[in-house]
Amino acid sequence: MSIPIKNIIPALHSGFEGMHPGVAIDNVSIDSRSLQNNSGTLFFALSGQNRDGHIYIKDLIDKGVLNFVVSHIPVDVRGRANFYIVGNTLKALQDFAIYCRNLYDFPVIAITGSSGKTIVKEWLNYLLGPEYNIIRSPKSYNSQVGVALSVIGINEKHNLGIFEAGISTVGEMEKLQPIIRPDIGILTNIGPAHDEGFADRQEKIREKLKLFMGVKALILQKNADVEKELAPGIKTFTWSFVESADVHVTQQQEGGNTILSIAYNNEAFDVAVPFTDAPSVENAINSLMVLLHFGYSHDTIQERMAGLYPVELRLQVKNGINGCTIIDDSYSSDYQSLKIALDFLEQHKTHTKKTIILSDVFQSGFATEELYAKVAKLLAGHNISQVIGIGDTISKQLADFPNFYPYPTTQEFLSHYKASSFDNETILIKGARSFRFDEIVVFLEEKTHETVLEINLNAITHNLNFYKSRLKSETKVMVMVKAFGYGSGSYEIAKALSHQKVDYLGVAFADEGIALRNAGIGTPIIVMNPESSAFSAMAAYNLEPEIYSARELRAFIAVAQQKNLSNYPIHIKLDTGMHRLGFQENQLEELINLLKNNNLVSVKSIFSHLSSSDVPDYRDFTLDQIGKFESWSTRLMEALEITPLRHILNTSGIYNFPQAQYDMVRLGIGLYGVGNDETERKSLETVGTLKTVILQIKDIEPGESIGYSRRFIAPGKMRIATLPIGYADGMRRGWGNEKGYVTINGKKATITGTISMDMMMVDVTDINCKEGDRAVIFGASPTVVEMAEVLGTIPYEILTSISQRVKRVFYKE
Ligand SMILES: *Cc1c(COP(=O)(O)O)cnc(C)c1O
Repeated sequence: MSIPIKNIIPALHSGFEGMHPGVAIDNVSIDSRSLQNNSGTLFFALSGQNRDGHIYIKDLIDKGVLNFVVSHIPVDVRGRANFYIVGNTLKALQDFAIYCRNLYDFPVIAITGSSGKTIVKEWLNYLLGPEYNIIRSPKSYNSQVGVALSVIGINEKHNLGIFEAGISTVGEMEKLQPIIRPDIGILTNIGPAHDEGFADRQEKIREKLKLFMGVKALILQKNADVEKELAPGIKTFTWSFVESADVHVTQQQEGGNTILSIAYNNEAFDVAVPFTDAPSVENAINSLMVLLHFGYSHDTIQERMAGLYPVELRLQVKNGINGCTIIDDSYSSDYQSLKIALDFLEQHKTHTKKTIILSDVFQSGFATEELYAKVAKLLAGHNISQVIGIGDTISKQLADFPNFYPYPTTQEFLSHYKASSFDNETILIKGARSFRFDEIVVFLEEKTHETVLEINLNAITHNLNFYKSRLKSETKVMVMVKAFGYGSGSYEIAKALSHQKVDYLGVAFADEGIALRNAGIGTPIIVMNPESSAFSAMAAYNLEPEIYSARELRAFIAVAQQKNLSNYPIHIKLDTGMHRLGFQENQLEELINLLKNNNLVSVKSIFSHLSSSDVPDYRDFTLDQIGKFESWSTRLMEALEITPLRHILNTSGIYNFPQAQYDMVRLGIGLYGVGNDETERKSLETVGTLKTVILQIKDIEPGESIGYSRRFIAPGKMRIATLPIGYADGMRRGWGNEKGYVTINGKKATITGTISMDMMMVDVTDINCKEGDRAVIFGASPTVVEMAEVLGTIPYEILTSISQRVKRVFYKE
């Protein structure tokens, strides 16, 4: 893409203020953090509920970006760059995508539906790849922003587009349709996803069908509810297992395969696909329909469909050998996804040294030399310390790149590499599927037992935004990451949140704060239970103490004096009824005397903690705490003539008492996906999933016992699976002996017998499973809330008890 600046103004229907240089733009960005931002970037300052792109413009100008699409020009940057002024920057991004789309005229396939969009898109890319230069949505880029960014990647070498579109409410699809302007449509299915955004199922169907305006063919499973809503003139190409349709399919399982018997155009043939589960089979048939529509031969269809593979789209962050961090993106290697992966690397790196292991790059739509010149520029821009290239093309094309180590094949790399050559660095592993980089991941991953706590970083952001949406936009947010981020990993979470406008982080002890600083976290940090022995270290690491007593304040002031600190930020804690830490009413006078005319410390905030914000019966008590907080904090502010931040709400406080949000709130458990009532929970996403694998399966005869102390006797013939997780991992023993269950292949497996230190046994008599299959200990089912209820405790305790020997794996969708 190279678009002269003079073409941008009409494309965006924008106003203009700037210097009119004669340059062109060659990339688009909405992410101020990206190291890919440069003088060729057109930056769209999107304004969401929680983030406003306009505030990053000054920084971006300092980094050399010259062109900005804005809704207003911030005063401090006027005259320093080119500004395209529009009413709505998201709409401008979409208009720009429409402009890019209209520059090219080749067939485009659009996919929507309740599930399967990304898989069908990836499979079509694989199935049609040998014949076409395909541009497709990277990852699951199917939102109002994602679709626009996907389409903007089009260039003159492409000759087929495959884009997915996802919507959650009415009015969205008509914005996506002109961006994609498809020739062929695929409706994967209509399920319950996002029902809440629509009046009823028919309204959702009507909205989705807006994508297919003007298509020459719409592929779908025969469905009367859908077909009756179709605009006249839309030609469908349908399939069905039962009714008469253009393509009739019957299926039969054979080992791990499903044999699909296809009857089409008076011809019949069989196609084997390597899956047996219903969703995969449905996705496979939707993909196969495109091959039929394109007139592929039966032989080619059979051969390619047999090669379908599970799609992994998540970028996973894992602990590697020798203190390394691994970012696993071992399933794709195209130019668009390389750009995304490098941004991800930048945001999640935990070391300054960055290595990338990269295979040949495919399907960019660029000529080979041009492509690798672009790849080299990207890698240089990201300051990659070391590049290991695997494949003939990359080996040749990047030969002159500094610190480049070429290998012809993955096997060649694996037989030559030395584990000791990787040390305390972040390694991005990115390769096309055919290169089998998953084998490299296995070698570089830290070897631990198979129990992992998977943390979904998207869910964290979602949950943060849910609570923010209930607050005034100016209210600041402190995120509590004490106790190792409620068991989920404090610095990974702090890092993931670092661009989300979190104003403060809260930890319990100074050493937790020091660990965050050592991991490069710059956000202000409050230490909630500072011990006087840690005051010096706190000052050295820029950690701000909670001050809860006169004794503590005197000790801190002494350290401040000794270290020549001035106006060091402190946070005054008031005890309005929790009776844990904090000043009581009769101690305020002393506090005022200590602080009056003292410029060693400066009161950054005054706060208190609610004891029962989650208990409806104690509403009056909570209101009384809030009342005391109001009056005591006012007294301090007047006596000291200060206007610090005030805050009193924790998660359930935010939910139940938003009127008391003051200047800041302190979000804890809700961030980690646990709400205290049913409706609150529904709005949150599950963050942590604790998983393990089946070590062994055995058949048990009636009357035989299972586990310690013979607490379980088999009532009949049973199949038992042993899982490598026990109370030393944080599994409470009270959850054993048939009280609790795990989920294996979507089914509940009751825990039989007593949970031991490192293992437990579950009943899989009625579950189709084998050794090595995954078991979910908690996550979507059972939930931690459910476990806590049975165990007579609270979700906080379950989450924070997961032992440190359980590996944490962080991923983004
Ligand atoms: C832990 C903690 C919070 C967060 O509480 P949640 O119920 O997890 O939201 C807020 N404030 C203080 C002082 C805390 O110790």
